Amino acid sequence: MRQFEGKRLLVATHNAGKLAEMRALLAPRGIEVVGAAEAGLPEPVETEDSFLGNARIKARSAVEATGLPALADDSGISVDALGGAPGVYTADWAETGNGRDFGMAMARTWRELDAVAAPEPRLAQFRCTLVLMWPDGHDEVFEGVLPGRVVWPPRGIEGHGYDPIFAPEGHDITLGEMPSEQKNSLSHRARAVAVMMAGSFAQD
Ligand code: IMP
Repeated sequence: MRQFEGKRLLVATHNAGKLAEMRALLAPRGIEVVGAAEAGLPEPVETEDSFLGNARIKARSAVEATGLPALADDSGISVDALGGAPGVYTADWAETGNGRDFGMAMARTWRELDAVAAPEPRLAQFRCTLVLMWPDGHDEVFEGVLPGRVVWPPRGIEGHGYDPIFAPEGHDITLGEMPSEQKNSLSHRARAVAVMMAGSFAQD
């Protein structure tokens, strides 16, 4: 596995939370993190049908625009009884044409589970794929999975997206009811980042 030996890394996200998280992890290694907004990057259109394909689109467009190595992620929720849906379309299910409505997206998830008479527990996973790409086009891919179940009605006001209807395996509370430090220690993103740190940022 290729090691990251540079001093600057473009983190291809416009999400301030994700950026701050990566900065905090990489600063102690002496790596300067540059955000997508700071670099003036547009948000590329995600045209692939997999998390990996879409993460690669984001990483490649950032590398090509800046000449820097880049890290991109793509994530979403896959529900077993829905054949993995919404999956890469997780954010699309919330699209109203006038902003995102995750209440609507969560209601659709439960409605579709009812429509197929899915037994409980209604198992699902949050998935995160990270792509670390170098200027020569080489990339390393890291994945994190958080298994759990979909519950109804939504509970909690923490987090974002589908958090209020997802109870992680081994927990009775939803991610929406979990303090952010706890969620951030077990999330699919945290798991993918841990795999990346052990793989491409391993210290001697
Ligand atoms: P993206 O990877 O930031 O494009 O996220 C895709 C979509 O997946 C988001 O809009 C959220 O709806 C959903 N998602 C990703 N991670 C989480 C999470 O930790 N909690 C809730 N929803 C999430």
